[in-house]
Amino acid sequence: MSLLEVCNLKVRFQADRRRLRRSSGCVRAVDDVSFAIEPGETLGLVGESGCGKTSLARAVIRLIEPASGSVWFEGEELTRLDAAALRSRRRKFQMIFQDPYTTLDPLMTAGEAIGEALDVHQLCQGEEDRRRQIEVLLSEVGLDPEHARRYPHEFSGGQRQRIGIARALAVRPKLVVCDEPVSALDVSVQAQIINLLRELQRSLGIAYLFITHDLAVVEHISQRILVMYLGRVMEAGEAKLICRSPKHPYTQALLSAVPVLDPDSKRQRIILPGEPPSPIDPPSGCPFHPRCPLAEARCREQTPALREIGAGHQVACHLVAPPPMG
Ligand code: SF4
Repeated sequence: MSLLEVCNLKVRFQADRRRLRRSSGCVRAVDDVSFAIEPGETLGLVGESGCGKTSLARAVIRLIEPASGSVWFEGEELTRLDAAALRSRRRKFQMIFQDPYTTLDPLMTAGEAIGEALDVHQLCQGEEDRRRQIEVLLSEVGLDPEHARRYPHEFSGGQRQRIGIARALAVRPKLVVCDEPVSALDVSVQAQIINLLRELQRSLGIAYLFITHDLAVVEHISQRILVMYLGRVMEAGEAKLICRSPKHPYTQALLSAVPVLDPDSKRQRIILPGEPPSPIDPPSGCPFHPRCPLAEARCREQTPALREIGAGHQVACHLVAPPPMG
């Protein structure tokens, strides 16, 4: 049984009427997305800003309500739980945000912020146990237990992210949704946080849904990758395979923008024309066709299905054929 299973999830928002050109009044933020995450695994969710990855992640843990589809966690359907039942399960899945400064209360010390997470789920047996757990959590994320007394403004960006991680870990979750957790940090600090997340995964067996716009980052932490464009999955599969040999023209363009250290590399940058279209008024056929260098006439009319082209490797493109049967 998978830890998390997402089936045909759709997320819709009511559009701002002033921006509407069509009558539907609906933003298709997430369109028919399915995937699974195994215990202790990291699934990377990649795509440009506005492609629906954050909406998808929030719908998965029901911070927003999906329009349709289902989400299963440890075999239980989360999308059917009432508010009280959902609250009691929340401990098992936590979220880390891009800028912890906006989620940490400036008037609370690091110790109080972590202690609050322990208190919400009644995980302490007395004051001494609470103090000890806070110290252990700070050490686990590479901070000094003495830091418990400091306020958010006394920490660097990387240290604040460590506090955000400690707060998420306080309830010993099985899944952590990481929403662009290193995008606001310097490159050297990014590597430290990625290494920390990997170490914690090894020692605690946590699974991650890791959201980023940066394929270079996601390759270092994920076992599998899901590439999204305009609310739909364009390519999914093993991280190494996709990063070495991407099949979808959109993944190829994203990867071509990743800097390569090898001076002999023949990789050429693929510049995509324009910006991603609005999900209020998505293009007909393949959503990528207005920007795709390989688009054909049928791409404007027919939406390509996400098809299996190899073991666990799926691509949604008319030009990428599945292997012949038998
Ligand atoms: Fe490009 Fe057509 Fe493939 Fe879409 S279906 S990615 S437009 S070639």
